[in-house]
Amino acid sequence: MSPIRLLILAILFYIAYRLLTGGRRTVEPDDRVEGKSYKEMPSDDVLVEDPVCKKLVPKMQAVKHQRAGQSFYFCSEECCRKFISQEGDGE
Ligand SMILES: [Zn+2]
Repeated sequence: MSPIRLLILAILFYIAYRLLTGGRRTVEPDDRVEGKSYKEMPSDDVLVEDPVCKKLVPKMQAVKHQRAGQSFYFCSEECCRKFISQEGDGE
């Protein structure tokens, strides 16, 4: 048998192996996450709208900014800074 044939066989075997194990791997963690996420979903994990770029961000990960007793949430500090500079221009 030529070395090239062996190499092709090895690659085919590797691809088949990856497909089999890869297919299994994606199913298993999903089952775990599904079981957990419903029970352990924090009540704070609400989506809030970034007033600058209109993106929806999870409240827990959002950058918070308070102004006149109102809270604003941003996807990043960059958007927060933009918002602050905008309110400065408006007044
Ligand atoms: Zn943003």
